[in-house]
Amino acid sequence: MPAAFIGHGSPMNALEVNRYTQAWRDFGASVPTPRAVLVVSAHWYINATAVTAMPRPKTIHDFYGFPPELFAVDYPAPGLPELYAEIADVVQPTWVGADVDSWGIDHGAWSVLVHAFPDADVPIVQLAINALKPLDYHVELGAKLAPLRDSGVLVLGSGNVVHNLGGMDWSLKDDGYDWAQRFDEDAKATLLDDPTNITDLAGHRDFRTAVPTPDHFLPMLYLAGLAGVSPSGAQVMVDGYAYGSLSMTSYTLDAPPVPDPKIDDGVAAMPDVPAEQTNI
Ligand code: ZN
Repeated sequence: MPAAFIGHGSPMNALEVNRYTQAWRDFGASVPTPRAVLVVSAHWYINATAVTAMPRPKTIHDFYGFPPELFAVDYPAPGLPELYAEIADVVQPTWVGADVDSWGIDHGAWSVLVHAFPDADVPIVQLAINALKPLDYHVELGAKLAPLRDSGVLVLGSGNVVHNLGGMDWSLKDDGYDWAQRFDEDAKATLLDDPTNITDLAGHRDFRTAVPTPDHFLPMLYLAGLAGVSPSGAQVMVDGYAYGSLSMTSYTLDAPPVPDPKIDDGVAAMPDVPAEQTNI
């Protein structure tokens, strides 16, 4: 089963049709129907390693300052509680908890899933990002998930390799600052050619600016871990920048190439709200 990392950007991408969302849609349409999608979302960043294990995960609207139609999005995919035992087994001796009632499907997950699996008929399980662990832990945990791919589980990281909310400039809709492009390009070279050394990026001169907090960066490390134990390498699904300080670059592993997106950006305008009032 293929795997992917998606640069999800603004939650408004859930409602928009643009070249990113078209690439996510093409990716979902190109893969065999998964038994489940295991999502590592930037927006479930807690002090534990845990997976959702409820039969009907709720759609979580974990942001504010956005239009009502975004709060109205429902993604009614089922869960797959029995996947917890399989995950707990393959990641041993790492401990993973089962969350039966607190989380669900957050916007880092559903803003992508509404495009990639629009029928919401594939079971969704989320894996929390353990905020207490070093970078290497996440690469190694990603690698440990590899056997799940053989049983039809699609591992999907969702974050942004470059994600600096304080540096966002709403006038730069499709542009990236020089430092954002430098870091994203070097991250790309490492992920494609040398994924087992992905944590070397922590020494990059632009790391502290591109990754001021680790939550959106870490989901990419799970794909790096999987790429490091796969005979084939990761590939770019789609790339680009948004608002100066976000990279939208997405990657696949063992997926059919998606066609070049031809759709012009945007059917809905980004609301003019300060970054500190959002959670993207
Ligand atoms: Zn986000």
